[in-house]
Amino acid sequence: MRLHEYQSKSIFSHYGIPIPKGRIANTAGEAKQIAEELGGRVVIKAQVLIGGRGKAGGIRLAKSVEEAEELATHILSMDLKGLPVRRVLVDEIVSFNREIYLGITNDRMERKPVIIASGAGGVDIEEVAVENPEKIIKIHLDAPFGLHDFQTRNLAIGIDLPRELWKSFNQIAKGLWKAFKENDAAIAEINPLVITNQGMLMALDGKMVVDENALFRHPELVEIRDLDAEEPAEVEARKYGLSFIKLEGNIGCMVNGAGLAMATLDIIKENGGSPSNFLDIGGGASSEKVTTAIRIICADPAVKVILINIFGGITRCDEVARGILSAINELQKEIPLVIRLAGTNAEKGLELLSESRIETASNLVEAARKAVELAGGESR
Ligand code: GDP
Ligand code: MN
Repeated sequence: MRLHEYQSKSIFSHYGIPIPKGRIANTAGEAKQIAEELGGRVVIKAQVLIGGRGKAGGIRLAKSVEEAEELATHILSMDLKGLPVRRVLVDEIVSFNREIYLGITNDRMERKPVIIASGAGGVDIEEVAVENPEKIIKIHLDAPFGLHDFQTRNLAIGIDLPRELWKSFNQIAKGLWKAFKENDAAIAEINPLVITNQGMLMALDGKMVVDENALFRHPELVEIRDLDAEEPAEVEARKYGLSFIKLEGNIGCMVNGAGLAMATLDIIKENGGSPSNFLDIGGGASSEKVTTAIRIICADPAVKVILINIFGGITRCDEVARGILSAINELQKEIPLVIRLAGTNAEKGLELLSESRIETASNLVEAARKAVELAGGESR
């Protein structure tokens, strides 16, 4: 679950990290009022769950209350990378002379959290990482011990931070670590952390991604979750206990079990196709769940064919077949379906499906090839 900038910064501030004064606005009128309170010179920032808002025109500086209202009107009417802007953050303008990057994430290869800093922060940090990787300093942490003073000092030295800012940098890095750990975050990032013209460190941007599997112990985060800003199909799927992730391709996939679902995506790719989603219907899925899953897959206009791969264990193939039949009845579109059904009650399931227009395959590779062909892609 990704948090908005204003939510992340508010959490950071709770951990002692300095942030600019500002508030969230739903309308241009509210933005105007906040600009008045802050003295007119403000930055208007689109709150959408994407990176690179600055480059996309979603961050603008206003020199007066009137300009703040105009810019807020404009930004609130924008789509950024396909996402409508519903709210803007209105912050006081901070003048700065350096932009630093500071972030914490998990390094899966090392199986440790890693803190990353760069003296070349700002909007081009991705390019820096590719072209000047030596400008990016990484230090791995031992989670139970957290972040030590000597580690933040090494980071400060690595990014050429002036000596008088080391103490404040140490506090900010430790605050970020605490925010990361206590909120079960996957990412906690400040870009840019600036050195203001007054010689202070301040977080102008904030990004947090929280592990969804840990949300059960963070009711306060569930409360601020912005479902409007998330992929609608994923929100819908979650309601029914389906693990669904939207992808870019045109072959819909319905599978039981996460590992089998991933293997299915791999085999589709291997055969020259492109999946439109990841979907794990879980073990022992009812026919209603199956029907819902197919409905969610079909809501994506890019989908040309659906590949169903079920390996019955606790899941009963006849139950799945009933769900498929009721989905076929209900569907508006004539989308071809290919199925590979094996395991518990597979014969019963296939018998139920024998009257329908669904194509069956005896194994996964054959099913994937058929699906790729029906989607109009190449198949080897
Ligand atoms: P992002 O593009 O989504 O990462 O959004 P950011 O919040 O990082 O803003 C992009 C850039 O806008 C920053 O790197 C800054 O250079 C600039 N910016 C953001 N806030 C301010 C501000 O208060 N004052 C000034 N002068 N520039 C700002
Ligand atoms: Mn940023």
